[in-house]
Amino acid sequence: KISGFKEVQEEEKSQMVDNVFSSVASNYDLMNDVMSGGLHRLWKDRLVSKLNPFPGMRHLDVAGGTGDVAFRILESLNSVSRRAVQDVLQDNLQEETQIYVCDINTNMLNVGKKRAQERGLEDLRSLRWVEGDAEALCFEDASMDGYTIAFGIRNVTHIEKVLAEAYRVLKPGGRFLCLELSHVEAPGFKQLYDYYSFSVIPALGELVAGDRESYQYLVESIRRFPPQDMFASMIADAGFQKVEYENLVGGVVAIHSGLKF
Ligand code: SAM
Repeated sequence: KISGFKEVQEEEKSQMVDNVFSSVASNYDLMNDVMSGGLHRLWKDRLVSKLNPFPGMRHLDVAGGTGDVAFRILESLNSVSRRAVQDVLQDNLQEETQIYVCDINTNMLNVGKKRAQERGLEDLRSLRWVEGDAEALCFEDASMDGYTIAFGIRNVTHIEKVLAEAYRVLKPGGRFLCLELSHVEAPGFKQLYDYYSFSVIPALGELVAGDRESYQYLVESIRRFPPQDMFASMIADAGFQKVEYENLVGGVVAIHSGLKF
């Protein structure tokens, strides 16, 4: 009975997350800029610089709906190939590089596809949009050189399953990187940040997107997410080595990384 109850709760959670993202999809970019003061762009730049993308790589960006991380990876590869003298590298970029954007929510993927169109990337063979669940990925074992998940893991039902799947699909030598809103500890700053998250963000959600509830949920999910050290242990438990993290803005966000050997 208890496990039946748990299953219902879990089903409700994933349904609710789906509703939240269907609801925020159309305002998602604007709200990201408003809530983070544009900082999310720098945080994503940092994530991609840590990934160090290379031409010919197969990369999976999970919970990547809007394409923000994938576009940055492509930009970074483009500058690599511009620096290289041989034209052949440019061909490799088209032929062999594969950047998969996987998201469970069709509306978020549609926002990403629309943005790809606006950037003239709709025919780029290197960019693939895949509807799928981070907890049960539709990719083969040891098929990816890199895995990123930005602002996605705190909304999943089972973090452990997501980490196990990340480990499974990465090739030996592959890198796992996770950018997530995290925990601020410095006294003073913590109180300020709590006030901002619990009072200002839902009010902004109401004002800008007419949707207080979804933004309230998103803020509450930050508090429930494990603190930096605990999350690092979970990544190590999934099998990753050289697990480390970097706090940005005093822990407002953290980038965790791990290697599969
Ligand atoms: N990565 C993008 C960014 O940083 O702008 C989007 C982040 S958005 C806050 C979270 C995304 O996670 C949503 O697009 C949502 O649909 C997706 N998501 C939630 N649960 C998921 C799951 N189990 N599998 C794949 N994607 C999921």
